[in-house]
Amino acid sequence: MNSVRFLDLGATYRELKMEIDAAVARTLDSGWYLLGAELRAFEEEYADYIGVKHCIGVGNGLDALHLSLLAMNIGPGDEVIVPSNTYIATWLAVSQCGAIPVPVEPDERTYNIDPNKIERAITPKTKAILPVHLYGQPANMDPILAIAQHNGLRVLEDAAQAHGAKYKNKRVGGFGDAAGWSFYPGKNLGAFGDAGAVTTNDDQIADAVRTLRNYGSRIKYVNEVRGFNSRLDELQAAVLRVKLRHIDAWNTRRTHQAKQYSQALQSMDWQLPYTPKWAEPVWHLYVVRCRNRNNAQQALKEDGVETLIHYPIPPHMQQAYADMYLQPDAFPVAKNMADEVLSLPIGPHFTDEQQEDTITAIMRQLGQQD
Ligand SMILES: *Cc1c(COP(=O)(O)O)cnc(C)c1O
Repeated sequence: MNSVRFLDLGATYRELKMEIDAAVARTLDSGWYLLGAELRAFEEEYADYIGVKHCIGVGNGLDALHLSLLAMNIGPGDEVIVPSNTYIATWLAVSQCGAIPVPVEPDERTYNIDPNKIERAITPKTKAILPVHLYGQPANMDPILAIAQHNGLRVLEDAAQAHGAKYKNKRVGGFGDAAGWSFYPGKNLGAFGDAGAVTTNDDQIADAVRTLRNYGSRIKYVNEVRGFNSRLDELQAAVLRVKLRHIDAWNTRRTHQAKQYSQALQSMDWQLPYTPKWAEPVWHLYVVRCRNRNNAQQALKEDGVETLIHYPIPPHMQQAYADMYLQPDAFPVAKNMADEVLSLPIGPHFTDEQQEDTITAIMRQLGQQD
């Protein structure tokens, strides 16, 4: 059996080589490399795809979240509700504003923030809720939006893992006041380097992010606020325009692979992903939960199957947040997930044959052990 890599980013390039090479050559030939026609076109096309009024390209996903929070006037002393189980960037965006991330535990079935636990985390300092559409599964937005409205809070979606995912038949990224996107190479829609974007229907947030990403300036050398340099460059925008035309087909492949796994692994003593009726996930990751996770990962490695862990240390247990004195057991769901989750290979690069090999390896190494 050939070995199965978790990700093969080169494969997506090879699939679209002609289109991508043409887009890159066109951009290089244009002689214009920042804030030009490619970015404007991508912003328009991505806003259309998500179904929102505005898209603003920025340097990466972390900046997309950070600048969105700043555009909502969130700053020192404010609190923002975040999931206890997420990639640390969600928390860092809050910290970068000088605000405090307030963790809330996930629903044990969907792994997304549990709306039933949000209200008791709200204090007079709370300004926003930052749900994450984790692993490409939409968060349960309706109760989150209702709580936000009832308490006068903003909602920022962390959509970095959910390009094209739908909640109640509508694409995520337009439910909250704004959404932050990452086009990091390994995401469902990935650039060949760092890139990100903010989507929003709010004119004021769009205008603020547009200004903040470019030195706080609307007119060259006139600086209204102390801004940042965080721009999505023309080359990446040109590449993303090509890939955007293929994202739905790629997400369909992922969905098919997720179905195959869920059927084939039914007999395993693992918790398989759960999809609520209102969710159309895009399977950024296919995450199972198993008690002897490290042994399982090692056994699959011996059979040539590469798996990853998203994520091995939850944010509240990171050194980076030691000064918040959050006890490991204060967020037991996040803590246990870190010990038990395992991500199986999935993606547009992943062939049917590789998936069969992966499933065979799982059954041989880990199935029916007793
Ligand atoms: C990738 C990711 C980010 C950060 O995106 P970058 O482009 O790497 O800065 C933020 N949140 C989540 C959930 C992510 O997966």
